[in-house]
Amino acid sequence: MELNKDIDQFDIPLAKRTYLNNPNSTLLKKLLIFSPFLFLIFSIAALRFIKNVELIPLNNLNFEVKRNHDVRIFGHLPYKETPIEKLVLIEPNIEVHIDMRDSLLKMREEAKKDGIYLVFLSGYRSINLQNDIFYSLKSIRNQEAAERARVSAPPGYSEHSTGFAIDIGDATQRDTDFETDFENTDAFKWLIKNAAKFHFKLSFNKDNKYIDYEPWHWRYEGSIEALEVFESANIKL
Ligand SMILES: [Zn+2]
Repeated sequence: MELNKDIDQFDIPLAKRTYLNNPNSTLLKKLLIFSPFLFLIFSIAALRFIKNVELIPLNNLNFEVKRNHDVRIFGHLPYKETPIEKLVLIEPNIEVHIDMRDSLLKMREEAKKDGIYLVFLSGYRSINLQNDIFYSLKSIRNQEAAERARVSAPPGYSEHSTGFAIDIGDATQRDTDFETDFENTDAFKWLIKNAAKFHFKLSFNKDNKYIDYEPWHWRYEGSIEALEVFESANIKL
């Protein structure tokens, strides 16, 4: 009995007291109590960081799309007039951007080898000329601007002003020039199969909800300058 009393007084209470008085243990205890909160704070900070990293490119993209959408007129993007010194004459009445000349002429040569005769209908057009086309035809046809814009770009909004656009016809079927029927010609079928090899792309396909389908109108994307010019046009809305 006396022995047990000694143990109670000496061993257990003393051991408890020693443990509680240790300053390191107190700190550990506090840390243990606060660890769930610390973990929570750390997790929130980590999540916010990850979320920001993921959102940055997405925000930029949204901004781009919004910007591009805002600058369109009747679905047409604005284009600057290319400087005259960058234009070269490839036909008596057709000028194009110097970057695309060789590729365009090579495409016509290659088509010829396959028995296809491409004819160039229209290349570079100044903003002034585009102005005449847009407004004169609009009044001749008694059309409102929105109607006319389905088939012709407003001045300052034509790919032709960049010198990187070309309207192409079939030399054996001139009645299809600037007509949707051009899509049934051998020239168009050949272009669909081969134009990409020469860095040409159909600008206004059947999916465009603003601008009518133009199987004759192709743009060049074979130089950095051309790619920069058409960067916005290549962003899908
Ligand atoms: Zn065109």
